[in-house]
Amino acid sequence: MLPDIVGVAEQHGLLINPYSRSREEVTYKCPFCHEDSKPAKKRRYYLSLNSKDQVFKCWFCKESGGVLRFISLLEGVSEEQVRQRFRKRKIVHPAERLSRNKRRWLMLAIGGKEPNWAKMRERDFAYYKRSLDLLWQQWNEFLQREQQEAYFWLVIGIKSFKYQKYVEQIRQREREIESPLLEYALQIYSCSARPQWTEDAERFVHSLKFVSPEPVKAGMKMED
Ligand SMILES: [Zn+2]
Repeated sequence: MLPDIVGVAEQHGLLINPYSRSREEVTYKCPFCHEDSKPAKKRRYYLSLNSKDQVFKCWFCKESGGVLRFISLLEGVSEEQVRQRFRKRKIVHPAERLSRNKRRWLMLAIGGKEPNWAKMRERDFAYYKRSLDLLWQQWNEFLQREQQEAYFWLVIGIKSFKYQKYVEQIRQREREIESPLLEYALQIYSCSARPQWTEDAERFVHSLKFVSPEPVKAGMKMED
């Protein structure tokens, strides 16, 4: 959705002809040729904006066009850059949905620093898209490591009879990185054919010595 051309003129502080304000054709001092800024042309307003057709034209310098061109001339940026700014964003890259908090944890994990996404998007859209692809890939790798770690904690919890404690630890991490982990870990645990990487975790846990607690009498309060 493009902004209203008269609104754009207002935003950029163009000098309006007060008598034209509520008309279909609103006139302004032309910011491109400044011809009507000359003292002798005090009453002239050469730039005309058509609020119905959303176009502009200067009757003196003949500069003309639509909203995109208007903004591009006023701000000294290319029309393509303006177009990108207002492009109806039908397709949202999944990485653009990552919350600030998720990105923060990811950056902590990979030791990176977040770029200025808005600036990058404006400067080079293709580069921005490639960077999003990379971010998305890094996030998925990060999440996979987190899931594997959660699984590791789950197995330790089960083998050490401290299930509750480790489950709470996993839930804590879930809240931090705003992503489900426990469900995944339980799913893997109950799988008959577990992925290869689980073997390392289990081998490690098996190598640890856990002392089984004394059986608790019925009706007694369990610790942990
Ligand atoms: Zn002009």
